[in-house]
Amino acid sequence: MAHQWRGVVEEYRQWLPVGAATPVVTLREGGTPLLSSQWLSRSVGADVWLKVEGDNPTGSFKDRGMTVAMSVAVEQGARACVCASTGNTSASMTAYAARAGLRPVVLVPHGKIAAGKMAQAVVHGATVVQVRGGFDDCLVIARQLADRYPVVLFNSVNPMRIEGQQTAAFEVVDALGDAPDVHVLPVGNAGNITAYWRGYAAYADAGMTTRLPRMWGFQAAGAAPLVTGVVVSAPDTVATAIRVGNPASWASAILARDASHGRIDAVSDAQILQAQHDLATREGVFVEPASASGVAGLLLAARQGEVPEEARVVVTLTGHGLKDTATALAGSGSVVDSVIDADVHAAADAAGLV
Ligand SMILES: *Cc1c(COP(=O)(O)O)cnc(C)c1O
Repeated sequence: MAHQWRGVVEEYRQWLPVGAATPVVTLREGGTPLLSSQWLSRSVGADVWLKVEGDNPTGSFKDRGMTVAMSVAVEQGARACVCASTGNTSASMTAYAARAGLRPVVLVPHGKIAAGKMAQAVVHGATVVQVRGGFDDCLVIARQLADRYPVVLFNSVNPMRIEGQQTAAFEVVDALGDAPDVHVLPVGNAGNITAYWRGYAAYADAGMTTRLPRMWGFQAAGAAPLVTGVVVSAPDTVATAIRVGNPASWASAILARDASHGRIDAVSDAQILQAQHDLATREGVFVEPASASGVAGLLLAARQGEVPEEARVVVTLTGHGLKDTATALAGSGSVVDSVIDADVHAAADAAGLV
């Protein structure tokens, strides 16, 4: 019988805060592809790999933390769950809540959620509350709801989320045999850069790796508080998943940057959309805009001559492109190139084959 990946709790149980009695709520997340990228390796003069997190059950890396957080919440008797979300946290939480039988409540910025992500929360049965404000306002309210009402908070300030998200770093090491020299990823609320750093550190402490990677985080220029050092009150970027002005994991992101001798820099929306396009046309990987910011950042660093020659580099692609087709198609004019009668000659002509 074919071996089936069991999900991150069963695959990495000894590294996670779960006990024998914890009921595991899983959609068999994790075990995502690590793809060698010839295009990026050639472009930046290094050995570049892509960790394709859009291949998780709900289409983003959020599922890694959600399985742990939901399992622990069920063990502790939770009946309802809440999160603030730019879309992917709610997509993930609602799916795991459905599986666990919890009631999901979702707070999202009014009118600022990609259609695919909104659809996920709705079909999984969430009560979706749109807040007139941004993600940061939603997070304040979600925290207050969890403080005052019988509902558990599932944002990455729930420490179980970060615990589960470490498993992506474990998978990278298990696949490559050691940690990379550089790990590149998008940064929004900064939970993931925190989680990768902790995961690499845990493996290094246990003697599973010979080195720690430099952590290179990239924010969108219109939402780059970790680059400028000041809270952004009205963050703005096409990359909605990283449209965060006051990251919850601010301090731990700075720690990951400094302890790893890394960097957190900004990339423009134009660079993000170009990287999204290039990933789709050159590598066959369709990511949402936020997910392309790591690739945009790596290319920027290469132009500045800052990618160490022959370094082994892993770039996390955080979420799937199908979640936000409107943005992906916005630049491409008409969706179809031509309309013809049902005739082979006309088709050959339209396809440029003659
Ligand atoms: C959540 C998310 C991010 C940002 O991750 P943080 O942990 O908030 O820094 C980036 N890309 C996608 C697709 C996401 O869903």
